[in-house]
Amino acid sequence: MTTKLLLIVLDGVPYANWRRYFGCLEGWVQSGEARVWKMRAGLPSMSGPCYASIHSGNPPQVHGVLSNGIIKRVELPDVFSEVRKAGGVTGAVAHSWWSEFFNRSPFDMVRDIEYDEPESTSINHGRFHTMTGYDHNNQATPCDADLFATLTSLCQRFDLRYGMLHTCTLDSMGHRFGHECGEMDHACALMDAMLAGFLPRWRAMGYEVIVTADHGQSLRGHHGGTGEDQRDFALYYFGDGAGPKGDAVLDQLALAPTILKRLGCAIPDSIKAAPFLT
Ligand SMILES: [Zn+2]
Repeated sequence: MTTKLLLIVLDGVPYANWRRYFGCLEGWVQSGEARVWKMRAGLPSMSGPCYASIHSGNPPQVHGVLSNGIIKRVELPDVFSEVRKAGGVTGAVAHSWWSEFFNRSPFDMVRDIEYDEPESTSINHGRFHTMTGYDHNNQATPCDADLFATLTSLCQRFDLRYGMLHTCTLDSMGHRFGHECGEMDHACALMDAMLAGFLPRWRAMGYEVIVTADHGQSLRGHHGGTGEDQRDFALYYFGDGAGPKGDAVLDQLALAPTILKRLGCAIPDSIKAAPFLT
């Protein structure tokens, strides 16, 4: 049977928050359903550069997205393009930058807010949001349960072989409140509970699932630099692949080739990192 996989990226969740607040995910680690590792973002540990690295398997110094001020089509093979070459159907429920990096840029709000393009060489089924108006006090983020439901709907309707979901809720909460406060405690627990409402369903539909972040955050809610609090986050894996020892620190650049390997797709020559799952 062909492997199918979902990548869930919760933006800006530092390693400590995953391990202390995500009780449902941690419960599945304890029960043996999931495995967890620490993963380290590249530099700069900013969102745009990390998204481009996650999906292209290359560092910012190669793909050219060196800050959140450089939003462009990444001219490298990525997970979407390689799944398409192998005949798989792709889907994305994410911030609009993902569409710009891996499909087309600039983002036309009406044309690109949602599209179904069966012949696409990148994203076949896209559902995006722009967070227009986002600032410190107004997150402008969608409800995460709605995003999870949208991804589930795409999986059911279009039999996605690979689907990715990305949400900025916790990154925005961190920038707003930091990480030693009741607001963040609650936000993490709520995210964990909403995710837990969908994960068993995705597994029952035959999907392997990776839940992770793009980067961490400092206690003050900052990221971009070299601090381990800014760079490190957890990666949870639900599936049949074998991985390294639990104390391994994974390289973010290894995520793209790992996904492609699990899906049985060829890994392009542009990707130098080795997969961490076999
Ligand atoms: Zn981010």
